[in-house]
Amino acid sequence: MNASLPTTDPQYRCGFVALVGRPNVGKSTLLNTLVGAKVAIVTPKPQTTRNRIIGIKTLPQAQLIFVDTPGIHRHPGSLLNQRMVEAALYVLKEVVVVVNKIDLVSRTALLPLLERLATLLPERDIVPVSALTGENTAELLNTIIAALPVSPALYPSDELTDQSERVLAQEVVREQLFLHTQQEIPYATAVVVEEFSEKPEKQLLLIRAVIYVERSSQRAIIIGDRGSRLKQIGQAARLQLEAFFGCKVFLELFIKVAKGWTNNLAMLKELGL
Ligand code: GDP
Ligand code: MG
Repeated sequence: MNASLPTTDPQYRCGFVALVGRPNVGKSTLLNTLVGAKVAIVTPKPQTTRNRIIGIKTLPQAQLIFVDTPGIHRHPGSLLNQRMVEAALYVLKEVVVVVNKIDLVSRTALLPLLERLATLLPERDIVPVSALTGENTAELLNTIIAALPVSPALYPSDELTDQSERVLAQEVVREQLFLHTQQEIPYATAVVVEEFSEKPEKQLLLIRAVIYVERSSQRAIIIGDRGSRLKQIGQAARLQLEAFFGCKVFLELFIKVAKGWTNNLAMLKELGL
């Protein structure tokens, strides 16, 4: 399994997509249709009160990360709830209005409805679809992609069956980054595990992770004098991972500068990843 991220395209788009609407309007059906068969449905985390990733669609030109936003339906009480609602509202800033179940109505009935919606919501893209038959859902996908920020993909393009182990590896690297650098550095970084593969013939685990930073100055800080800091981070993380997985770990760390990364990073934090 080689899970490289399609990050080379400078026009690549990636972002979070929430399907918001009343029960029964067809959100789950639409998610399944949009995400398609060859997609990773990330196992829901036990904390049901937080936003969760419910599906990822990786295309040659974009990656869509579908999230559940339970926060939108709650009253802000605790700080955590407030942050959840903020996250949900952040998601809502760019909304595409979807009119679903168009297979149930005739064209002549649909057109006046769409015209009325367009008058009511002149700022919004309005896309009629049938989640059930798939009619016009390719158009919807393109409309959503156009609304996503330019950003490298956040997840590998393969299925995330080993999601929890990847997350663990991410967390271990992130923790060592935190311990070896000043406070502002961890907040400007995101760790993405690009490859996580067992090499039974060598009895080792190969883990390749990218540390994304926003500026080249941050990159220099993490690398340290002649690479000394990055080496310390890598060694400490490797020892922890070896202890956890009970085998030799070959840990490769790369640092990439990704400008405009903050929005996605902030959202990742909200997601607790
Ligand atoms: P959710 O509660 O918003 O997640 O809605 P679901 O996806 O569970 O769908 C509710 C019901 O609407 C189910 O019986 C679906 O089969 C049906 N449904 C969803 N999308 C369509 C559609 O485009 N056309 C038709 N005819 N039924 C749909
Ligand atoms: Mg549903």
